[in-house]
Amino acid sequence: MTQQLARHGEAVKTLLERDEAANLIGGQLQATAGGQDERLEPATGERLGVAANATVEEVDDAVRAAAAAFPGWAATPAPARGALLRRWAAAIDANRASLALLMTQEMGKPLAESQGEVDRALAEIDYAAGEGTRLHGATVPSGRPGFLVYTQREPVGVVGAITPWNFPLIAPVRKLAPALVCGTTVVLKPAQETPFVSLVLGMLLQEAGLPPGVVNVVCGDGSIVGRHLVSHPQVAAVSFTGSTAVGRQVGQAVGQRLGSVQLELGGKNAAYVHSAGDLDTVADELVKAAILATGQRCTAVSRVIVERSLADDLVERLARRFDRLKIGQGTEPDVELGPLVNTRHRDSVLGYVETGEAEGATVATKQRTELPQGPYVGPVVFDHVTPDMSIAREEIFGPVLSVLRVEGVDEAIATANDCDYGLTSSVFSEDLDVALRFVNGVQAGMVHVNHGTNSEPHVPFGGVEGSGAGPYSIGYTVKDFFTKLKVAYIKSRA
Ligand code: NAP
Ligand code: MG
Repeated sequence: MTQQLARHGEAVKTLLERDEAANLIGGQLQATAGGQDERLEPATGERLGVAANATVEEVDDAVRAAAAAFPGWAATPAPARGALLRRWAAAIDANRASLALLMTQEMGKPLAESQGEVDRALAEIDYAAGEGTRLHGATVPSGRPGFLVYTQREPVGVVGAITPWNFPLIAPVRKLAPALVCGTTVVLKPAQETPFVSLVLGMLLQEAGLPPGVVNVVCGDGSIVGRHLVSHPQVAAVSFTGSTAVGRQVGQAVGQRLGSVQLELGGKNAAYVHSAGDLDTVADELVKAAILATGQRCTAVSRVIVERSLADDLVERLARRFDRLKIGQGTEPDVELGPLVNTRHRDSVLGYVETGEAEGATVATKQRTELPQGPYVGPVVFDHVTPDMSIAREEIFGPVLSVLRVEGVDEAIATANDCDYGLTSSVFSEDLDVALRFVNGVQAGMVHVNHGTNSEPHVPFGGVEGSGAGPYSIGYTVKDFFTKLKVAYIKSRA
């Protein structure tokens, strides 16, 4: 048992001390009848706890519980649903240190980032809670005398939510908070790597007074539990965050029965450096955007597209910063790069580093010789990358940055768009016209001018092309996914 256990709050301790892995169904932690999976911390290899490999029957139980809870929750006034979210936020806040530590233990990111993730999650819940007083429809002028025509929003039904491991807290919160305020009930399937944060979120919802069955958490293998959930006829809509390959399968399964999907998928995000008063500041922004969560971020900058005239100076700055990054366990002070989530993923990232060299790109960083034991990688900046190379096209999901040299904004836009993804992007320029040309020309759901790719907790978030489909998450667009519109025509003698 991990020596960190003593530092945890009651909710997390209860979960990690269990000998029997559990799902949360109908408001209760229930031991699974499926197998259980011992979860080890990537940073230390120590045992963290046991996670359920739920059976498909348990998925059915969870959907049944969510369907049974739906009429009552849908009928609860939206402002009261918002108030419940605020009580949940208070419970998360009371457990913030424990939740942050748990995230770092589950997937390895530096503790300071996990603490930041708690703040971000609280801000997103705060916005969603306010939606309880803003879920209004519209009145539409009727062409007929005595007619009142208006729209109202109604909860879509039971929602399936499937999340990845890279943001163990934000990913489920970004689905649960809007789902709950909109009056839907949920079955959540977290990534196998990060089951505990999701279970704790569910337990804290019960503590905040959520009726049993409104949120259920089933843990296990995506190809069994996830696949069954998205194919379930009683699941009206599926919000999925994860890889593009799995997203396509989810889209097909749900589309088959005309359910709706919100797909938040991968990215190969480009930053175009056109001009800069201070190249050091640009390099700082780019490095931060590239290495947060050890590069395992859908919005990580992974391609730098730079004007040829600036390229040598920029690459030198990027490489120097990469070479200085402190690598270690996420719980150690000042660590900037933690381990990758597991050895399989580390091998995939190392495979891309080999491929990049084989394809002819130049490694600008120094080889790290002393890495800690475990799934760690040294960060790499590749220079002289060309658009045909796989390190310019595929999502690597690690601390690897590909630099492509261009001349002029037109070539920059064409290069940025020469890939299958379209999540986020940024442009650094002192020339407003150039910046706006890029903003208008880039195929991406989000674009940032003169800074990295950090989004805000009340602003729509999403991607185009291979990076997503359906209404954006966060902010005013979420209701387009979690509610359906009803149009009423009222004829009266008034
Ligand atoms: P993943 O392999 O696609 O898995 C995501 C989730 O889907 C996991 O819970 C997984 O279960 C489950 N799953 C796997 N196969 C399934 C199936 N056939 N049917 C239903 N569910 C299934 O992605 P990941 O490796 O966890 O996460 C990394 C990816 O997420 C990256 O591509 C990243 O860019 C993307 N991402 C996107 C955003 C965004 O907002 N756009 C945010 C964060 C991450 P298992 O646990 O069993 O694998
Ligand atoms: Mg996985």
